[in-house]
Amino acid sequence: MFKKILVANRGEIALRIQRACRELGIKAVMVYSEADREAKYVKLAEEAVCIGPAPSGQSYLNMPAIISAAEVTDAEAIHPGYGFLSENADFAERVEKSGFQFIGPTPESIRIMGDKVSAKQAMIRAGVPCVPGSEGELPDDPVAMKRIAKSIGYPVIIKAAGGGGGRGMRVVHTEAALVNAVAMTKAEAGAAFNNPAVYMEKFLQNPRHIEIQILADKHKNAVYLGERDCSMQRRHQKVLEESPAPGINRKLIERIGERCVAACKKIGYRGAGTFEFLYEDGEFYFIEMNTRVQVEHPVTEMVTGIDIVKTQIMVAAGEKLPFTQRQIEVRGHAIECRVNAEDPYKFIPSPGRVTMWHAPGGPGVRVDSHIYTNYFVPPNYDSMVGKIIVHGDTREQAMARMRTALAETVVEGISTNIPLHRELMVDAKFMDGGTNIHYLEHWLEQHKR
Ligand code: ADP
Repeated sequence: MFKKILVANRGEIALRIQRACRELGIKAVMVYSEADREAKYVKLAEEAVCIGPAPSGQSYLNMPAIISAAEVTDAEAIHPGYGFLSENADFAERVEKSGFQFIGPTPESIRIMGDKVSAKQAMIRAGVPCVPGSEGELPDDPVAMKRIAKSIGYPVIIKAAGGGGGRGMRVVHTEAALVNAVAMTKAEAGAAFNNPAVYMEKFLQNPRHIEIQILADKHKNAVYLGERDCSMQRRHQKVLEESPAPGINRKLIERIGERCVAACKKIGYRGAGTFEFLYEDGEFYFIEMNTRVQVEHPVTEMVTGIDIVKTQIMVAAGEKLPFTQRQIEVRGHAIECRVNAEDPYKFIPSPGRVTMWHAPGGPGVRVDSHIYTNYFVPPNYDSMVGKIIVHGDTREQAMARMRTALAETVVEGISTNIPLHRELMVDAKFMDGGTNIHYLEHWLEQHKR
């Protein structure tokens, strides 16, 4: 096992990885930008290295600074967390070439999955069902483009091959709008992802977003840890997540889980990963794979009792998965609410000084957050400041616990989206379960204020 790991991230996930290291008896080196000097995990750290000024381009995305921090502290491995460099194949490669273990899949796996066109092709070959669409990159020729759209059937969605974070997508309803929409998406994709390639998919009208968590080791073992329902989204960004997905037949989940495991074995995948699907009328359609730990991993940890971050570290060190598929059991129900520093209805970011933070507690309540009273939320990064996760024997109990937890939570000095979560937890349709990916947007439209 490693003796020392460098954590190349910030915020709640940096704290989460630090906690996993502590449990494993591994020293965690924390890195921070000048804006994160006061972060809780930096204060708690045995060792911490400043890697640059506030803008992430000069700090959390600064590969040479991160690698030299690992060198000067004698770390053996680097955990990239999520976001930032976590899905950057060049970074993974540089980490390994510098003699450190990258806690994640191989650079090749990241590269294949990072390009959504090659990811889809790999999945089709591995027998994972995909959304019907263009086979590969969309051609520039308007006639060919229209022919593909026609064969798929409108509406279609144009997606950037290099896209992520809910950006680089455009829905097209008519042939008249097609050519222009493709040109615009290509231009945006070129600017945002440095890759103008786009592809086309059928735009599913009322799907749910269901994803499968997998874990794989370097010895060809792989398992799936059930599913998460992440259908509550705003602008293609997840707002709250739960596991299991309400109302989906367990046999269907098993079948798709087994497909994902088979695909992992086929592509030689290692570490933690997530297969994201759209689910409509009893069918799963693969949309993309995330080759890292995800924000919403705790709901899976709560229902399976498996520590995903610890397992990531163990398999990166070469250990075998400590459980088999048959030993994995999904127990009860878990829900996660993402706490963002933002106006709850207008979504304008609300960085600044937290004058009061009181976290909820009690049975089945978990809080993953790096904030504390008097902490200053810097304006430079993502607005998520933590996550409240609850577990219950049933979905009803989990929702009741979440309502209690949200009622107990006090955040002063900044605005958060907690008021929105409080309303969603008593919303009749959400409480019924099974709402689709458009539900929250419609809800926000109806509850405009
Ligand atoms: P990203 O990497 O940016 O998160 P995804 O491919 O995972 O992009 O898609 C994000 C979200 O966009 C999905 O959860 C879903 O809400 C919507 N979406 C993507 N593809 C489709 C599609 N073919 N039909 C309908 N909605 C889609």
